[in-house]
This record gives sequence, structure tokens and C-alpha cells, in this order.
Amino acid sequence: MAEKLTDFSRLCIHTITTKPWSLAECLDNYRKAGVPAVTVWRQWLEPQGVQESARMLKDSGLRVTSLCRGGFFPAASGEERRNALDDNRRAIDEAHAIGAPLIVLVCGAVPGMPLHEARKQIADGIAAVLPDARAAGVKLSIEALHPMFSDARSAVNTLTDANDMARKLGDDHVGVTVDVYHVWWDSRLEAEIRRAGKTILSFHVCDWRTPTRDLLNDRGLMGEGCIDIRGIRSWVERAGFTGDIEVEIFSDAWWAIDQHVFLEKIKAAYLEHC
Ligand code: ZN
Repeated sequence: MAEKLTDFSRLCIHTITTKPWSLAECLDNYRKAGVPAVTVWRQWLEPQGVQESARMLKDSGLRVTSLCRGGFFPAASGEERRNALDDNRRAIDEAHAIGAPLIVLVCGAVPGMPLHEARKQIADGIAAVLPDARAAGVKLSIEALHPMFSDARSAVNTLTDANDMARKLGDDHVGVTVDVYHVWWDSRLEAEIRRAGKTILSFHVCDWRTPTRDLLNDRGLMGEGCIDIRGIRSWVERAGFTGDIEVEIFSDAWWAIDQHVFLEKIKAAYLEHC
């Protein structure tokens, strides 16, 4: 079992975790709360544009852990697939501009498309944008999503799938993201984390509530659910991962409260349960 965390030096918060806050509010409030790192969701770049966002991030002094998210490669028509590649290239430019070392890929799926076809289109899509990522010095991280999202969000549903795809692509600019919410249930998890080793590029935490009231927006604060977060952290660290621990919570319930109160609860839960 990993040691308890005793400070906030590796704490990163996703802007979507405090969804009611703008980018300026996220940066100001995280910094004041002693949170040293942020993962920026692309929607948070839109209101003021990428260049202004980059300046704000630089001035904040916060470390940019990653940009969320690229992906959504599979599509029914060639034109839509080309649009998806263009969008991923824009994400690579944005990551480069804001100093994000990696983009998390929610790989995509199309209702009705066989999953093996979606997986092929995902691998082809990543391969197509890899030269751009390499040129920009931005890594692409394949995040396995819980199988309940295999209809429309991702055909990559286990760390085994993600590892297989990353290995097949065989490029040092491709790795995997371990998000405890998506993979905690998998009996192969420890072995696949070991297999991923240094290709683990990022680590996301939250909790699985019982019962889960909404498939998308009812993630729990760490400690609110049944995931052995510290146990999984011990596995990723044994595999060589030393990066940020990223709090990524989509929750209608938590978004409804004062986000300053929520931020303090995140910090307490981080020390207690991560
Ligand atoms: Zn995640």
C-alpha cells in the first residue's frame, strides 16, 4: 500500500471538476488554495481564446498537467473522420500553446458501429495525428473508458485495450491514462498497470458512488464510494509513475454547492483517501 500523501505538491484539479468557475476563477482559486497544477478542458479556452488563456496560465504560476480532451476519431463518413483529425490537430496546437505536455484522448465510438471497426478507426486516427503531436512535443494519452460508455464515447474500455493499442502504435509520444473511475472493477487491472509501466502518462481520481444516480454526472468525491484509490495509486507508482494526481469529478451534486467549500473538501479527501 502506498504511503498517505502528506502535502499537495502532486495535486492537480481538472477545470471541469469546478464547472461553475471560469478559467480565471479556477486559476485564482486553485492558486489561493495551494493547488499547484491544473488540467484544462478545451471549453475553458474558448471564451478568451487560446493565446489569452496561455498568458493567464503562465501568469498563474500553475503547472499545466494536461489538456482534455482529444479523440472521438470514429465516424460514419470519411468527411467526419477528416473533421475529427482536424479537431485533434487543433487540440495539439492548443496544448502546445498552453504548455500542456499531453492530451487525454477520449477515443470515441459510434452507436451501431461494430466496436472492432471503431477500434480500427481510433488506431488509424491516432496514427494520422501522431506526426503533428511529435512535432509539437505533445504526447497523446489513451484513456480507457468504463464499458457503460462503449456505445457513444469510447470503444477502448479496458486498460488491456489501451495498452494493446499504445503498443501497436509503438511511439514514445503515445501512452495511457489510468482513471480509477473507469478501470477499478477490472480483475486484470494490477497486471495491466504493471504492463503499462512508464507508458502511464497520467492518473485520474474520483470515486464510484453506490448507487450511481447518473451514468455521466454522478462521480463521487474520493472516499464517497467503493474504489480502492490508494491501492491503485500504489500500483501505478510501482509501475514507475510519479506524476500529478488529477481530481476529475463530474457531479451535478458537487457543482451545485459553493465551489470554495467543494475545493476544501477535495483537499481533505485527497490527503485522506488518495
Ligand atoms: Zn479521466
